[in-house]
Amino acid sequence: MALKTGDDFIASIKSLGLEANVLGEKTGDLTEHPLVAPSMRSVATTYDCAFSEDDETRNLFRAKSSLTGQEINRFTHLHQSTDDLMSKVKMQRRCANVTCCCYQRCVGWDAANAAFSVTYECDEQHGTDYHQRFREFWKRVQSEDIVVDGAMTDPKGDRSKRPSGQSDPDLFLRVVERKSDGVVIRGAKLHQTGMLNSHEILVMPTLAMREGEEDWAICCAVPTNSDGVRFVLGRQASDRRKLDDQPIDIGNSQYGTHEVMTVFDNVFVPEERIFMNGEIDFSGMFVERFAGYHRQSYGGCKPGLGDILIGATALISRMNGVEKASHIRDKIVEMIHLNETLYCSGIACSALGQPTAAGNYMIDLLLANICKLNVTRFPFEIARLAVDIAGGLIATLPSAADFDNPETGPYIRKYLATVDGVDPIDRVKVLRLIENLVTGPGAVSYLIESIHGAGPPQAQRIMIGRQADIEGKIEKAMKLIGID
Ligand code: SF4
Ligand code: FE
Repeated sequence: MALKTGDDFIASIKSLGLEANVLGEKTGDLTEHPLVAPSMRSVATTYDCAFSEDDETRNLFRAKSSLTGQEINRFTHLHQSTDDLMSKVKMQRRCANVTCCCYQRCVGWDAANAAFSVTYECDEQHGTDYHQRFREFWKRVQSEDIVVDGAMTDPKGDRSKRPSGQSDPDLFLRVVERKSDGVVIRGAKLHQTGMLNSHEILVMPTLAMREGEEDWAICCAVPTNSDGVRFVLGRQASDRRKLDDQPIDIGNSQYGTHEVMTVFDNVFVPEERIFMNGEIDFSGMFVERFAGYHRQSYGGCKPGLGDILIGATALISRMNGVEKASHIRDKIVEMIHLNETLYCSGIACSALGQPTAAGNYMIDLLLANICKLNVTRFPFEIARLAVDIAGGLIATLPSAADFDNPETGPYIRKYLATVDGVDPIDRVKVLRLIENLVTGPGAVSYLIESIHGAGPPQAQRIMIGRQADIEGKIEKAMKLIGID
């Protein structure tokens, strides 16, 4: 069967033997490391939900492969309809409802849906055979149910210069050597979400390349355990709390996410794993389609995180005895309004999707960009309202070690008491969860990534300006009032 369980997934990652530099030290068996294991459990959720006892959840996480006819995990599916696109967003929201953080598996999936159509159109134009190669690669991904990390973001160096104008040309990942049976690549990809939980990397160009920049127009698949691939784990706010044995202080101790700097130090890629090699006229299309799919994704995962934050905020207002105050109710309604608006745009860009020439479905690009631009703002307002309602304690709480201390513990329980029947420690757990999302490691997924993931706000504004048919709107206005 093509479907793996969460435990199968963890065992398969373990067998890769990946190493990374973590807090300055080369570290093996990352599946056991406290800074990585929670992120692995998040990805495992994408597998376990496909075996959920709840029929609706199980069906949402499964799909029928268009390549093999097998039943597969939806996280590897090539969208065949607008229903598939909407199921994607619904599934992402549900997954975030379980993990309350990024579960990392959408990036490679979004990259694959982009690669499927771009390689097809590139072949039609250039007579290449990238599409067939990609189909073969993706058949394996589906039938082995593995995780692919989509790697687009280059370091980019001096932002005023093109890739070829950088004093170090490796600041954009590039082909440094062409051989009869493949290429050698060198460079780095930054901010790689979930890389240490991935079996494969799908390398993509980071922008529309121009003449003379053929070496930077490269798309290929690289196993994460290849020679020359190196990883450096990124730090997150309060990450050292995960090294203490005090789960309450973390806020969300079960799940997490990670990002890494990934270095490609002269990595050989064989011919059959190359899906673009110098076709500069298709690199921009790659960026646009991948970004479009990933901007749609945020209309699913961010409302899923928002659900938890709204729930925690409503709960703390109840624990504090203020749930019936009209301004509190109004603020909670405002949070819901903002959160559901994000979901609306995720669903809308899916409902208006269209088939590509290759047969898989593409979202409505304008609405996907509207979705992501909303995501760059609304979670911040939702977080602001959560902090407003939760109160200053989220920034001043004593540590869990102080609750256990016989001298301080009784004082803390006495002076953090609120409504009769509420355990002060439960209250602390709720406050720590809110802290996690607005200023702790959860804020990586909920706030910072909401701005920069799938491209910063200005990238969406440019796309909106391009897609919105401003001339058409001018014509409509002119027609209405009789101007030729
Ligand atoms: Fe998926 Fe959201 Fe994480 Fe992107 S940020 S990989 S869409 S969960
Ligand atoms: Fe992301």
